[in-house]
Amino acid sequence: MKTPKSTIKPADFASLYEGFNAPVSRFDCGRKCAPLNDGEPVCCSTQNAVPVVHKVEFDLLKTRTDLWSKFKPYDYATKQIVAELTSDCMAIHCKGARHCERDNRTIACRGFPFYPYITRERQFVGVGTYWVFEDRCWMMSNLEIVDAKFVSEFVATYEALFVKDASEFATYVDFSASARRVYSRWKREIPLLGRDGELLIVAPSSGEIRPGRKKDFPKAKPFTSEKEYREAVKEAGGEVPKEGLRPS
Ligand code: SF4
Ligand code: SF4
Repeated sequence: MKTPKSTIKPADFASLYEGFNAPVSRFDCGRKCAPLNDGEPVCCSTQNAVPVVHKVEFDLLKTRTDLWSKFKPYDYATKQIVAELTSDCMAIHCKGARHCERDNRTIACRGFPFYPYITRERQFVGVGTYWVFEDRCWMMSNLEIVDAKFVSEFVATYEALFVKDASEFATYVDFSASARRVYSRWKREIPLLGRDGELLIVAPSSGEIRPGRKKDFPKAKPFTSEKEYREAVKEAGGEVPKEGLRPS
């Protein structure tokens, strides 16, 4: 079946931005990952994460700020990222965390490290995490402190986006299927936060979902222990925050 043409306009992104302002949690998670990444939050440096936006979203941003510009790939991996983009998307980059403008963050910035998880039955049941960042993103190992308000704003934003642009929905149908394949290969369950912020666990082979328990909250290295974390920060030449790995 052909995907209906997108009707999304720059002004739609302006309203989406207004409804998506809640921080992921009340803690400043950048304090935990920056020491592993030359002092920059991992999700704010294109060495790690290249923000991908709808071309229409960039059209809006250009009218509001000079924070963003078109991303120029600099190596094989970044060339691949750009080559694989669909025709209505593009990669952009900002001037860096010190110049961040809260109101001019992209949907991708606001939602990181989460994506909309869609079941095989095409139900949008919650948010999953971009697993390739699990070794650098402290937040992904601390899902129990994600605010329910953030999840509900995330869900409302993507639901509105899917109505205007069916290709976005198709993208996450495919991405969620990739998540099931990857976790299945790893023989691991997929952690999600349900639409009310509750932990859910997906069995990747069957796609079945059950409620998560405390022990199911994921922890990835080096966020598994204070010792692991301190060693990783030391190796990266960073400085451990005074409270260590604990939320603060
Ligand atoms: S979301 Fe993850 S990568 Fe981004 S600042 Fe927080 S801990 Fe770092
Ligand atoms: S706009 Fe802000 S949140 Fe987004 S990548 Fe740049 S510094 Fe990070």
